[in-house]
Amino acid sequence: MSVSDYIPVIGLEIHSELLTKSKVFCTCSAEFGGEKNTRCCPVCSGLPGTLPIINQTAVEYAIKAGYALGCEISKFSVWDRKNYFYPDLPKAYQISELYYPICLEGAVPIEYEENGEKKTKTIRINHIHLEEDAGKLVHDDLNGVSLCDYNRCGVPLVEIVTEPDMRSPEEARTLVETIALLLQYAGVSDCKMEEGSIRADVNISLMPKGATEFGTRAEIKNVNSLKSIYRTIEYEIKRQAQILDRGGKVIQETRRFDANKGETKSMRTKEDAHDYKYFPDPDILQVNLRDEDLERIKASLPEMPKERTAKYIGMGIPEKEAKIIVSDKLISDFFEDTLKAYNNPKSLVNFINGEIMRRINLGEIDMTAPAFDAVNVAKLVEMSDTEKVSKNDAKEIFREMAEKGGNPEEIAKNRGMLIVTDTSKVLEVIESVIAANEKAVNQYKSGDVKVFGFLMGQCSKSLRGAATPKVIKEELEKKLASL
Ligand code: ADP
Ligand code: MG
Ligand code: ZN
Repeated sequence: MSVSDYIPVIGLEIHSELLTKSKVFCTCSAEFGGEKNTRCCPVCSGLPGTLPIINQTAVEYAIKAGYALGCEISKFSVWDRKNYFYPDLPKAYQISELYYPICLEGAVPIEYEENGEKKTKTIRINHIHLEEDAGKLVHDDLNGVSLCDYNRCGVPLVEIVTEPDMRSPEEARTLVETIALLLQYAGVSDCKMEEGSIRADVNISLMPKGATEFGTRAEIKNVNSLKSIYRTIEYEIKRQAQILDRGGKVIQETRRFDANKGETKSMRTKEDAHDYKYFPDPDILQVNLRDEDLERIKASLPEMPKERTAKYIGMGIPEKEAKIIVSDKLISDFFEDTLKAYNNPKSLVNFINGEIMRRINLGEIDMTAPAFDAVNVAKLVEMSDTEKVSKNDAKEIFREMAEKGGNPEEIAKNRGMLIVTDTSKVLEVIESVIAANEKAVNQYKSGDVKVFGFLMGQCSKSLRGAATPKVIKEELEKKLASL
């Protein structure tokens, strides 16, 4: 058999850190980075005798994540201890939720392209649970000694567990991208892959086409970029197909992905829940939610991608363009800000999806900290629309703004790009162009309107920067009509 005779079955466990200011059971800062071991206290570093206290915001953010992914929220959830021994976990257990997680049964629609074809599908979410993150081992140098950084210990995270509903690397990649966007819009996670604030365990098995039962799966831990998720799955499909082709059996095990080699390697045979000796944490209260809590949290959910897309389409923006803007929250928020300064959605979208995106793709703009601001970009687009600057000059002005900020009006003035209409000069030029082009004028008068462009061109040439094309056109038409 070949790879194409098997159907891959994929389920993901997506971990995403929540954007709370403090950690989930203590008041230490949950911010990324910091000098090693400076954001720790007796609670998150696991000293005996300390007592954890639940961070209410972390619970609310997990609920918001649940709503964003179409889940039912459980009014009753319980914290459990997941026991395992590894140096990144100073207590030797992780506080998590096994039996009564906070969110149940969700659904996330995805849209993607495969083999040039547009496809849609809904991926079911089994549940979302809340837990604390572990620390980080630093293996850098130090004569073969590893050190622990506990700053990340106790940062709240949600684990989103999907049903095994995906059937291709593209579906899995799109799901993670879609979930990241939903969590960003919900305002509960920044989902920065490069800072490890979203990562996925990839579960994958193969079954022969036509089979009804799933095969044995491998679980690839901690895959931390969209590209790696895609490559991990591609690699596993090939690896497992080869085993099955030989008549072998895939063993249920935990593997890791080596991005440099593009391969997965066995880490250990798969552990079961009983290996972790889960039991309810006796130090932490169960979470009981009231209807009014849930209603309040649901109502506090900001505008989500679907609503924003619909709103933009309602403004007359083509669906494709609207989706491009919404697919990046920073861009979409930026667009919202420009709209407040200049209410011309179509023009703004053209400029953002054109010129701004182009420079982002060239790596010239970092939207997390752009040199320009929304008000000035709005002003620039308005200047271009009202022909105070030419379209080309607007791009040139923006190039400067992208590099060092500034006010487009001043830049245009300094660089001689500002078009200031001087009507008497316009009339003077029109007179002389008409006098010098008697033949063309007569052609026009006898009904050959094509020569208008020629006359217009003659006027524009002598009026560069002294009048907008609109004024020249109007004055020329008036003059010709009066002859
Ligand atoms: P465990 O309790 O062993 O961790 P779960 O039932 O919680 O297993 O499933 C973990 C993940 O593995 C889920 O995302 C699920 O969709 C996925 N999964 C389960 N069975 C399979 C399978 N046969 N092939 C691929 N993925 C699977
Ligand atoms: Mg599991
Ligand atoms: Zn702490």
